[in-house]
Amino acid sequence: MSGPESPSVDPTGTTTGWGARYADALMNAFGPPKTTLVSGHGARVVDADGKEYLDLLGGIAVNTLGHAHPALVRAVSEQAGRLVHVSNFFATPPQVTLAERLLGLLGSEGRVFFANSGTEANEAAFKLTRRTGRTRVVVAEGGFHGRTMGALALTSKEAYRTPFAPLPGEVVFVPYGDADALAAAVDQSVAAVLLEPVQGEAGVVVPPADYLLRARQITHAAGALLWLDEVQTGIGRTGTWFAHQNPALVAGEVVPDIVTLAKGLAGGVPIGACIATGGAGKLFDPGNHGTTFGGNPLAAAAALAVLDTVEGDGLLERSVTTGERLRGALAADDRVTEVRGAGLMVGLTLAAEVAAEAVVAGQDAGFILNATGPDRMRFVPPLVLTDADVDALAAAWSGILDSAWGGGSP
Ligand SMILES: *Cc1c(COP(=O)(O)O)cnc(C)c1O
Repeated sequence: MSGPESPSVDPTGTTTGWGARYADALMNAFGPPKTTLVSGHGARVVDADGKEYLDLLGGIAVNTLGHAHPALVRAVSEQAGRLVHVSNFFATPPQVTLAERLLGLLGSEGRVFFANSGTEANEAAFKLTRRTGRTRVVVAEGGFHGRTMGALALTSKEAYRTPFAPLPGEVVFVPYGDADALAAAVDQSVAAVLLEPVQGEAGVVVPPADYLLRARQITHAAGALLWLDEVQTGIGRTGTWFAHQNPALVAGEVVPDIVTLAKGLAGGVPIGACIATGGAGKLFDPGNHGTTFGGNPLAAAAALAVLDTVEGDGLLERSVTTGERLRGALAADDRVTEVRGAGLMVGLTLAAEVAAEAVVAGQDAGFILNATGPDRMRFVPPLVLTDADVDALAAAWSGILDSAWGGGSP
């Protein structure tokens, strides 16, 4: 390790040595970290060199309340002083209250199973669909549902799947947003249709406004379950509690059989939830599924603090207005050829394949950005993002694109 007289920049770009230690101690599943972060406040994070960034990624749509939000700090601290974990042989008030709150937000009778991540929420739902007695699941191309073997079987990206074949079978892929293709694929052998209301990892892909309505009709007609993966879109991300309730995205009322949640639900404390409405909520018998940590009172208390704060601070409305401001700021440069999304789930396409370069240029300029493809970027910041934060990005945006384009103009 280098002493203070010989600071060497490590692979994370900081001078503190954490990146080199990371490389020697952690599995190389994620590639080299972009920097080493030590603290945050609001929509800002600070790295080990003391450099501050505006965080437009929000832990990948996770940090609903930003960083170090007092309500989340208080809820987690108080709950940790009472009970962190008890096992699922016991009930706890935060777990029961959270399940009731989620069903209330969904507006349906149902039952909740708590897990610790999005992939686990989907794994629970996948197993639940097997309890219908049917085994086929129809999913969309470009969809992302997680990395466990079951969730991976439901995820279309070949680069993720191929190294781990064979995966659980009887998964049928159809083009996303194409209701006719869905209708052609769904018959009485299908247990469930699984869709993201807006595809996140694919780069914020918004389907036609009648797509989920058609999916609901098609599944009803075949006696199949409609399962919506709201792991990324849920909890206010698009401006409504759930994206399938968002009139800007869906032209009518859709009542899904299963909704899976995770990312933003507890503001960064690991949690996942599989919510099933009506009869689907009663498909598991004791012993069919389980988890040691899932639904522990710490994560549930964190989620309750997130729900209270989103409600109390008007963050659904803020997601809509701040999202509009953000989309306007991004679209102001004509090297941005398309801006998509709703609320604070925003995707864009660049006129050249320089998204990765834009991420690097953004980081140099003090902005945490995200590329979802060679020419695609995604913005899923904390819902506490302020107008001033957006204006700071707006002021830097053309300079970031100049650097991404190699210092020149298009
Ligand atoms: C991130 C994501 C998942 C997986 O969640 P993990 O917590 O990473 O397991 C599943 N579905 C969607 C739509 C996601 O965005």
